[in-house]
Amino acid sequence: MTKNQTQMDKDLKAMAGRLRLTFIRNNMDVMLNNVIEAKSTPREVLKYFFEKELEQREHNRGKQMVQGAHFPAIKTMEEFDFEAQPSIDAGVIRDLSTMDWVRTGRNLALFGPTGVGKTHLAIALGFLAIAQGLSVRFYNAAQLVSILSKAHKDGVLESRLKEINKYHLLIIDEVGYIPFSPDAAYLLYHIVNRRYEKKSIIVTGNRPPAEWGEIFGDSSAAEAVLDRLLHHCTIMTIIGDSYRMREHQKANLAKKPVV
Ligand code: ADP
Ligand code: MG
Repeated sequence: MTKNQTQMDKDLKAMAGRLRLTFIRNNMDVMLNNVIEAKSTPREVLKYFFEKELEQREHNRGKQMVQGAHFPAIKTMEEFDFEAQPSIDAGVIRDLSTMDWVRTGRNLALFGPTGVGKTHLAIALGFLAIAQGLSVRFYNAAQLVSILSKAHKDGVLESRLKEINKYHLLIIDEVGYIPFSPDAAYLLYHIVNRRYEKKSIIVTGNRPPAEWGEIFGDSSAAEAVLDRLLHHCTIMTIIGDSYRMREHQKANLAKKPVV
């Protein structure tokens, strides 16, 4: 390479850096070699460079969105064993996977006992939403209520609610495991009411809506939340035993000697 070329490469990299074309800056040598070898036309060169930069940006954006969602675990739809859970209609999950319901501000409620895959499905749908460019935030219900209570006490409830409501999809996991105070019901109502018909919520819970009065310690608060939440909502009730327990039992049975 001539001295001129070396200087030119340096200048090009500096310019790519100033234009925030990070991928091109970091990979310029290899990319230039590739287009020289391929004898690409100027248009093909530009296309190749732009495409690579865009690809990397999409990838980084996805990664940031997954981090920002705060999922408690990585769970995907591919990992979900539908045969083991016949009470779930795989067709409904397939429809939900299109994410059209998130674009129209509908909700999803997953009810059922512990271990049947509610959190797994909620996270898997969250990943699919992110893959389609939608923003997601996962909260455990008790954690969400404690964040909102603190914000209320500190006089910053409004900004907290705004922050939470900017996400296209809000996942509130495990409603009903811990009873809520009347204050908590009021705080949750704020969230549900503001998102109503605009932005989506996935709620999971181990108790059916009829028992929410008990969870909230106040049936009118529960009714107000449910009214908004369930109006445009797909409700799935999962029945059956805990998946893990069953897997465990299967494994133990397999280990037993045949007599
Ligand atoms: P829930 O939220 O209903 O209490 P989870 O979604 O946390 O249950 O499921 C408990 C564990 O079992 C998780 O590790 C989850 O990945 C797994 N699991 C549950 N159901 C299935 C299933 N049908 N296929 C694969 N894994 C499952
Ligand atoms: Mg769960």
